Amino acid sequence: MTITNDYICPICGNADTKYIGFKNGKPYCRKCIMFRGQEVSGEYIISNSAEYQISYELSDDQKRLSSQLVQNFMKGVDTLVHAVCGSGKTEICLEIITYCINNKLRVGFSVPRKDVVIELTNRFKEIFKNNNVISIYGGHNNILEGDLVVLTAHQLYRFNKYFDLLIMDEIDAFPYKDNEVLEAFFYRSIKKNYILMTATPTPDLIKLFKKPQRDIVELYSRFHRHPLPVPKIIKGNWLYLNYKLIKEVDRLLKSFKQIFVFVPTIDLSIKIYKFLSLFFKNGNFINSQCEDREKIIKRFHTKKYRYLVTTAVLERGVTVKDLQVIVYRSDHVIYDSYSLIQIAGRVGRKKEAPEGEVIFLARRKNQEMQRAIDEINAANKKLQNLF
Ligand SMILES: [Zn+2]
Repeated sequence: MTITNDYICPICGNADTKYIGFKNGKPYCRKCIMFRGQEVSGEYIISNSAEYQISYELSDDQKRLSSQLVQNFMKGVDTLVHAVCGSGKTEICLEIITYCINNKLRVGFSVPRKDVVIELTNRFKEIFKNNNVISIYGGHNNILEGDLVVLTAHQLYRFNKYFDLLIMDEIDAFPYKDNEVLEAFFYRSIKKNYILMTATPTPDLIKLFKKPQRDIVELYSRFHRHPLPVPKIIKGNWLYLNYKLIKEVDRLLKSFKQIFVFVPTIDLSIKIYKFLSLFFKNGNFINSQCEDREKIIKRFHTKKYRYLVTTAVLERGVTVKDLQVIVYRSDHVIYDSYSLIQIAGRVGRKKEAPEGEVIFLARRKNQEMQRAIDEINAANKKLQNLF
């Protein structure tokens, strides 16, 4: 069998012969072979009309952007939403989701990670009480259709030209970032239009959306109109950093604050937790290998834990009231300015507790840390000028 040059994978669009194999004379794609499973039938019919219910009022900015999204969709325009962490970007999608359901159009909401899918699904079920909100993620994929489909990016391969509107949140997050297979799934799943949402758009993305039939909208204000906390940097050798880690955790716990301590590796999440647990009770650690992540997060929410040592898994998505954040070894290569901004955005996300601290512990201040601080300052300045 000779490999022909004209085979293009119908699922991910790969045409590179390096990744094309043959079985029983039939070509297959090695790039996306792990993504196989039931695809959507398209038989589901939306029957209930939608009306969203939330217990608070949207800000003027959120209202303005909500209708902008509807207008863009009606004109067939794709939108990039550039929204600062905590500005309430999920809320600005409620109107367009309602519009789609009421017009019997298929709408999906995709995020990179499973735990965020679960949290969002619960939120949407509360908001759209009369509607069938379903979620799809690894290990949870029996039902593929509903009035609103919330799913991980990995599950998009089940849909082909399906969504009249697909909303993709946190596009800069692992594992979507720079992943061409997932990107191909994303475009393949869309029938009409899409909305991308990010706190940290890259220059390439902005360029892409400066083209015709595309629009960029910006949401700077956090919903309570407080600026993002600017990280405080503590520098020193590792002995000093460990000493300061104890000091800072002690200080924050004494003021009855809950803390996320971010660490760069799974190994460190265990080590640093063991170290901290010598001094402080009621903590735990969390990383991508923890099976019971959801249980741990729940316990943290109910304040059974005072602190969590975590890898990047909690970098986004999880919202905790009055949270304080310490980044241990913020100069580690795994952190870039985007992820450091995301982490800083964990803090002060609730209206009742907008203030909070972000502390970077590092051996030195590197470029990414500086860039993160510069961008936070720039965003705060824009916020000031708005009001
Ligand atoms: Zn493929």
